[in-house]
Amino acid sequence: MTYRAPVRDMMFVIRELAGIDAVATLPGFEDAGADTAQAVLEEAARFNEGVVAPLNWTGDQQPSALKDGVVTTTPGFKAAFRAFAEGGWQGLQHPAAFGGQGLPKTIGFACTEMLNSANLSFALCPLLTDGAIEALLTAGSPAQQQAYIPQMVSGEWTGTMNLTEPQAGSDLAAVRTRAEPQADGSYRIFGTKIYITYGEHDMADNIVHLVLARVTGAPEGVKGISLFIVPKVMPDGTRNDVHCVSLEHKLGIKASPTAVLQYGDHGGAVGYLVGQENQGLAYMFVMMNAARYAVGVQGIALAERAYQKAVAYARERVQGRAVDGSTPPGGGIIHHPDVKRMLMTMRAFTEGCRAMAGVAAAAYDAAHAHEDAATRAQNQAFYEFLVPLVKGFSTEMSLEVASLAVQVHGGMGFIEETGVAQMYRDAKILTIYEGTTAIQANDLVGRKTVRDGGATARAIAAQVEATEGDLALRDSAAARGMLRRLRAAREAFVEVVDWMAAEGKANPGAVYAGSVPYLMLAGNLMAGWQMARALLVAEERLAAGEDAEFMRAKIATSHFYAEHILSRVPGLRDSVVAGGDAVLSMPLEAF
Ligand SMILES: Cc1cc2nc3c(=O)[nH]c(=O)nc-3n(C[C@H](O)[C@H](O)[C@H](O)COP(=O)(O)OP(=O)(O)OC[C@H]3O[C@@H](n4cnc5c(N)ncnc54)[C@H](O)[C@@H]3O)c2cc1C
Repeated sequence: MTYRAPVRDMMFVIRELAGIDAVATLPGFEDAGADTAQAVLEEAARFNEGVVAPLNWTGDQQPSALKDGVVTTTPGFKAAFRAFAEGGWQGLQHPAAFGGQGLPKTIGFACTEMLNSANLSFALCPLLTDGAIEALLTAGSPAQQQAYIPQMVSGEWTGTMNLTEPQAGSDLAAVRTRAEPQADGSYRIFGTKIYITYGEHDMADNIVHLVLARVTGAPEGVKGISLFIVPKVMPDGTRNDVHCVSLEHKLGIKASPTAVLQYGDHGGAVGYLVGQENQGLAYMFVMMNAARYAVGVQGIALAERAYQKAVAYARERVQGRAVDGSTPPGGGIIHHPDVKRMLMTMRAFTEGCRAMAGVAAAAYDAAHAHEDAATRAQNQAFYEFLVPLVKGFSTEMSLEVASLAVQVHGGMGFIEETGVAQMYRDAKILTIYEGTTAIQANDLVGRKTVRDGGATARAIAAQVEATEGDLALRDSAAARGMLRRLRAAREAFVEVVDWMAAEGKANPGAVYAGSVPYLMLAGNLMAGWQMARALLVAEERLAAGEDAEFMRAKIATSHFYAEHILSRVPGLRDSVVAGGDAVLSMPLEAF
């Protein structure tokens, strides 16, 4: 078996850190308690381990291909997608009214992780369909919702997100695709979209493209962008005027077809406006936030699989003996302290980010389903603060983890046949699409920190401080170490937040020069905070004699996180607060 789903750790996060019992008190989620979570995760594990994971390497070797306008996906993908759809997995988190299972994100995120660990390229199709469903649930008319959502939930149709154009990547204000109003209320769409994931494929009967375009005469910039539904196949069965003109050749995720789509070369693609004209970007943000969170989970997923692969190799590969003589005859490189350090780094990052994502998922559920408006608003603010961190930090860490996985393999890591090189190549896209790390950091600084003068950030810091109070009541070495590191990290975070709130408007160059280090600092702290909470729980459970092996490992991993990862935070604070000039002072001509 090439991948084993970490159901035990996921259940620990879901039960102990995200608080599934509280989620199950929310209206609509009454049946979604810990037992349901366990059952769903076990089923998801079986499906992903058995059906999806074996296709990962095949996808790298036999990518999707375009011939005569038809995209054929990797052998096995079509059947696996059918099984995925028939298993009800696409509808897991979507409303029962549209044929979904209506489960909370607190359970769904773990299934998303498994699917992505199993096969990142395959998982992108459902990921984008989820985003399209979410956008239509938010902004689509009731008729549009009825016409498109049930087929996407059932997996008969899939969805895409069409933002990018050659001149409009991070800067969507530059979108040029045109939409001309028609007498019947529809529009004709003309333009070129690039890098469209699953923009054309053979896994479903229809593709629902959600397209950003500018209605004739609309204002310049972001204020003139509207959102359209452009189905590949029209209701009468004819083909709409949207065509795949090429597929990109890529560094990684080779099985995922990345399409250049041409709209309107044969008279205009029929499009239907979603919501109001010129509000497209706001609607697309709903989709992007869902997708950004999911891409963060892709990072965790990739890190988990890379970790598993590295552990297996480190046990098998025999090379030298550990300096303290502890390697038994025939024992693997796992006995070398530095190999152990690499494996611990991989494990601690992965578990920390998984815990952060799980807690964010629970906040999302409360933000949507809680009866009390103030509680909803509080959870929404917390969730929105975490989204750029789940996306930015978890994907950056997945690169570090994938790199370590190659390193553990030594020369074999650099050889394609081991499969670990694929993970390294696949990981790189995660820090680029759905907004690069810098774009996540801009969001974190601008919308999430400076705009409210740092209020949300400080409220979160106060919660971290409460965890420090709980740690102070413990006398274990792990708890003491964690307390020292967590306190230093939280203080560093608050210093940066105060500095950004004060300088954000007066000195934007210096503030944004530190935006990515700030994102890495805040992500590290949020994941580390969850590892601190995990440590507190694990110590209690261990004392109660529950699952000793798991709890001991959790304590050791938290301890490692504190000493080796959380300890990076004060250095990041220094580069943010004191490092702006060092970035800005170099004249551009000197490059
Ligand atoms: C495999 C793949 C799949 C994709 N799938 C889709 C899809 O399904 N739908 C879709 O619409 N798009 C998709 N994209 C596009 C993707 O979202 C963009 O590539 C991404 O947003 C970056 O845009 P860009 O490539 O134009 O880079 P640019 O925007 O040119 O960025 C180049 C560099 O400049 C930096 N930069 C740019 N602006 C700023 C700023 N304001 N502040 C700081 N730094 C900045 C960036 O961080 C980056 O380092 C995909 C791309 C790839 C490669």
